[in-house]
Amino acid sequence: MSIPIFVRGIRPLVADSESCYKSKVSVVFSDVYSDLQNAVSSSLFPHYNYSMIYFLFALVGLLAGGVINVLADDLPRRVRPQRPHCGQCGYVYAPSGWLAIGRWLWGDRVCPECGARMRWRAVGVELTTAVLFAILPLIITHPLTQAVYALYMAVLILIIVIDLEHRLILDMITLPGTLFAIAISYLLPPQENTMRLALAGAIAGFLIFYLIYWIAQFFYGAGALGLGDVKLALLMGAMLGFHRIFFALMLAIMLGGVVSLLLLLTRRINRHTYLPYGQYLAVAAIIMLLWGVQVYNWYIQ
Ligand SMILES: [Zn+2]
Repeated sequence: MSIPIFVRGIRPLVADSESCYKSKVSVVFSDVYSDLQNAVSSSLFPHYNYSMIYFLFALVGLLAGGVINVLADDLPRRVRPQRPHCGQCGYVYAPSGWLAIGRWLWGDRVCPECGARMRWRAVGVELTTAVLFAILPLIITHPLTQAVYALYMAVLILIIVIDLEHRLILDMITLPGTLFAIAISYLLPPQENTMRLALAGAIAGFLIFYLIYWIAQFFYGAGALGLGDVKLALLMGAMLGFHRIFFALMLAIMLGGVVSLLLLLTRRINRHTYLPYGQYLAVAAIIMLLWGVQVYNWYIQ
């Protein structure tokens, strides 16, 4: 151990050309590496800076995740959403247990009323929403756009959870959501969305997926694709606008294809297993909300 310290100690005295060259090479390499790293991170997260805003967004995301959990339990059962409660017996939690992550951290992992175990979905939804909300200000700086896109992401996560658990995409989410998205697009910056783009996007999303719906019915029979998926495509078109809806639909079809292929290859499903398509549409919509403008700008270049 003493030798390297000794060598390090005398290095300045014997600054021979070889070690000089070596250190130059390593400097150039580390420069190229950090340039590359900066280029990748700045294209994915163009507005990165050190600030508290990420924590604030993550906190709001955590709370939004709690609301999504309640809505995902109550809306498919057509009951009026109430305070956070046990999915089995309806026991209403005390405010300290409103967030699943809180119950998990404090160790209250079974329902005190019926003994049902805590579902990992509840924690997963809260954490995922918090992470996605925290990413938002890294990419989008316009405050109203941040708020609107945060709401869109929460709605899309709710759609994913309900579709995975019930194979259902509720009209009471997609239809008012579409109207809201078209109306609010009037106030967004034009590079994000405009009313005209939102209307054209909604029509395009609806028509494309309606066509796919009929083709799927023709080849695979009724029920291969639901009309809920078509209405989700309508909502996505309004949220993303005409300039981003095509990328989102292509991405969804690719995601669905890749995941189905993986599941087929690993024999987790067979050719006749029904696959809820809404989850891929909603995941693609979230990705395009975050990076769609960059993808569109890259494409038109
Ligand atoms: Zn219970």
